[in-house]
Amino acid sequence: MTSALDAAEARLATLERDANRAWWAMACDATDAHSDAAEAASAALEHALADPALAAAAVPADDAPLERRRAEVLRLMTAGRRRPPALIDRIVRLETELMGIHSRYRAADGDRELDAAAVDRVLQTSTDVAERERVWTSARGVGAEAAGPLRELVRLRNEAARALGHRDHYAMSLALDELDEARLYGLLDALEARLAGAWAAERGRIAAERRRALGLPDDAPLMPWHLVDPFGQEAPSVGPDPLEPVIGQVDALAASCAYFADLGQPMEGVVDRSDVLPRPGKDQHAFMMHVDRTGDVRTLLNLTPTVRWLETTLHELGHAAYEVALDPALPWLLRDPAHTLVTEAIAMLHGRRGRDAAFLERYAGVPADVARDPANAATLRRGLLILAAWVPVMVRFERALYADPDQDLDGVWWDLVERHQGIGRPPAPPADAWASKIHLAVAPVYYQNYLLGEILASQIQAWTMRETGAASPARDPGRVGPLIAERLLRPGASVRWDRLVEQATGAPLGVDAFVRDAAA
Ligand SMILES: [Zn+2]
Repeated sequence: MTSALDAAEARLATLERDANRAWWAMACDATDAHSDAAEAASAALEHALADPALAAAAVPADDAPLERRRAEVLRLMTAGRRRPPALIDRIVRLETELMGIHSRYRAADGDRELDAAAVDRVLQTSTDVAERERVWTSARGVGAEAAGPLRELVRLRNEAARALGHRDHYAMSLALDELDEARLYGLLDALEARLAGAWAAERGRIAAERRRALGLPDDAPLMPWHLVDPFGQEAPSVGPDPLEPVIGQVDALAASCAYFADLGQPMEGVVDRSDVLPRPGKDQHAFMMHVDRTGDVRTLLNLTPTVRWLETTLHELGHAAYEVALDPALPWLLRDPAHTLVTEAIAMLHGRRGRDAAFLERYAGVPADVARDPANAATLRRGLLILAAWVPVMVRFERALYADPDQDLDGVWWDLVERHQGIGRPPAPPADAWASKIHLAVAPVYYQNYLLGEILASQIQAWTMRETGAASPARDPGRVGPLIAERLLRPGASVRWDRLVEQATGAPLGVDAFVRDAAA
């Protein structure tokens, strides 16, 4: 007999598969026809999720734990979508408007127009401090255009969330994402306290390196335009990069495939379905897609011989390895990663191999002295410390934004940047520079996953080391791979993420392992 839950699942499975196929086609070839088809397929899925009949199906047919979890997952998927159609339309219109503002905006320096890549180039290479300040100020200038519509969008998201009984959109999003707000902020506070010393020392080193590179006096405060990206979220490299001279000889895809094969997760099928080389008209980023939750797993990459693309290839194939390991017998609703933060953790765990001596020597064919150069580990550590300083700025800012979108948000933003990132507040910052971060518009209440993922990646690494004695999955892939797949990946969403992490790793998610990795 088919239950209402079975029917709801079948309906969603078809709509999600069709939307994924349309998005894939658009990502590979951005024609107007493809983008219209992708928009239509996404709208069909959105309307189904807002359909009260679908939400009403979130009732378990019996008392078995798997059946109850399946109904709960459908409830979480649909609960936040019950909004009046007119409100949905206004929200979608503002989101589209904001996406347009961000994609059309170009920074300028005099009559020179700079796209995002050109801004990055100036911040990474220019030693002309006045030019850096002009370009940085102009790059963040998109905030002044975005702030008005973004404030309005936040008010509407809040209106929808309050109609459903939540404090605001921020609280609702965390609750429906099964993240406890008090626990999240407890983790952030603990991390800040325990990394304070290591971060102060690293920040001092970064400031000294940047002053030297830019010819600034020893007592010059570190300003946002002295860093290597507009938000101070990227790690400036630790001295000359040892991998730079050899990376041209590394076949990132072949090295990654050999590694995943040894982990017991061969990637040939995934790679055959993937689109890996850059091409005009193709999405310039990288992502993994499980098209149908029945094994059609693909990645989109734009491989070039750089360290960043080696790390990205490992990261995206890490997401793919999770999908491939899901128990095929699970019902559709549960045949999915346990949480965004868990799939990010798996991807980040494997992405870190790009600086791991064992991986570099064994799979990438990098000479031992280069692979073991301490600058590799130092770069990885610096990246973790920067992330642990930057993500809380976004997470705490977003909470304040939804609590009161009409307050002095420039003040809130620069207070957080000063306190957490240790970056100076410009004497006359560009107005509404906070609104220049596109995530606030298009990926609301999502940013915490980037840090929680790295925290969990460290905890997984510590757990597998306890069980196998291998400090890195690349040192004993034959034992680490199956351990992670069986205990953490195979159960999919059948167990709530926090219980799964505790069951698999032996402890609730905590910052101990991350602190050891970042402060070593
Ligand atoms: Zn990812």
